[in-house]
Amino acid sequence: MRCNQRSVIFIGLLLFAVVLTGCSENDRPLESPVRFEGDIFGSFYQVTVVDPLTQGEANALEEGFLAELESVDQAMSTYRDDAELIVFNQAPLNEWQPLSNELVEVLAISRSVAEASDGAFDITVGDVVNLWSFGPEARTEEVPSEAELSERLAIIGYDAIDVDTQNMQARRTREVFADLSGVAKGHATDRVAAYLDQQGIENYLVNLGGDLISRGHRDQEGETPWRIGIEIPQNGQPEAQHVLPLESISVATSGDYRNYFEVDGERYSHTIDPRNGRPVTHNLASVSVFHPSNAWADAWATALTVVGSETGMRMAMENNLNVLMLINDDEGHWRSFASPAFVHYFGETLMNELGIEVWESSIANRQTPTGE
Ligand code: ADP
Ligand code: MG
Repeated sequence: MRCNQRSVIFIGLLLFAVVLTGCSENDRPLESPVRFEGDIFGSFYQVTVVDPLTQGEANALEEGFLAELESVDQAMSTYRDDAELIVFNQAPLNEWQPLSNELVEVLAISRSVAEASDGAFDITVGDVVNLWSFGPEARTEEVPSEAELSERLAIIGYDAIDVDTQNMQARRTREVFADLSGVAKGHATDRVAAYLDQQGIENYLVNLGGDLISRGHRDQEGETPWRIGIEIPQNGQPEAQHVLPLESISVATSGDYRNYFEVDGERYSHTIDPRNGRPVTHNLASVSVFHPSNAWADAWATALTVVGSETGMRMAMENNLNVLMLINDDEGHWRSFASPAFVHYFGETLMNELGIEVWESSIANRQTPTGE
């Protein structure tokens, strides 16, 4: 009996201790900055928070933004049969389909960038993307036949998807496959940022597979801005070429060296030119678009990659886009060109320091043929 009583007291104490340590573990302040990272959408995420956090707050925050990412995946993935986008792609033609706000929003952004880029950004290019084995259809890495290409090219076009933002619905008017891979990652980045804002976090950097958005500073004193590196491939490995401050803005970079396959020494990029159904090939190594919304930045970066430097910079000027292009010249040297909005945002002093040139088509034309 005495023994039993003792055990009860002992177990009681033990439980009390467990509860206590549990509490203190959650209350434990973490060293700043706190970095969360993992894999998502076949790519990676890195979320860095500078604001003071306890272990418990960090856990809740991570759970919260992972739920946002899961919801984007559920809406827009082309890799899961139950995704809202896949269901939309299988719905009968010409019938309006009620959709989630976020899917309608991303379809509407896609439509706007498609119109402003003369169809260079085109989510219906998904059918052709699959032919080139960059999409969800399992295929061997080979060059599709002319017949296959022209058959799919005849159907695609961004005008085959109508979006009604008033009533939150959309419809397909031809047998096309909507693929939001060129904009969804940017949208997901925006969603994570919006979630952190809602939670009152004031200093953070979100990086989703190279699409970035920042808020505040990288130190609690508010003195050091976030910095990002624009990379170029050196001996096959990406290396930071320009380090730029990123203050409460987002950036998306399209580069042809990250996702491609090679056949007989020829490199095929995963960005497809909707006008001829072929992967883009030119001297543009990367295009970075700085924009308050990462979804817009992401879509534009893909659009400008399609049209190349000359037309891309013209579009950047027409649409007042903040753009940095890295171009490979004839001698294999990299040159960096900025749109007027970039000059306005980052300032000439920084550009001079980094050796970034203001875009003047005549100069670039003469020394770096665009291959367009
Ligand atoms: P990047 O980082 O190079 O911009 P993204 O992941 O943003 O790459 O977009 C590439 C994806 O976009 C491709 O895998 C394809 O699914 C889709 N895509 C390819 N070409 C186009 C295009 N012209 N318009 C819209 N989406 C495209
Ligand atoms: Mg993109």
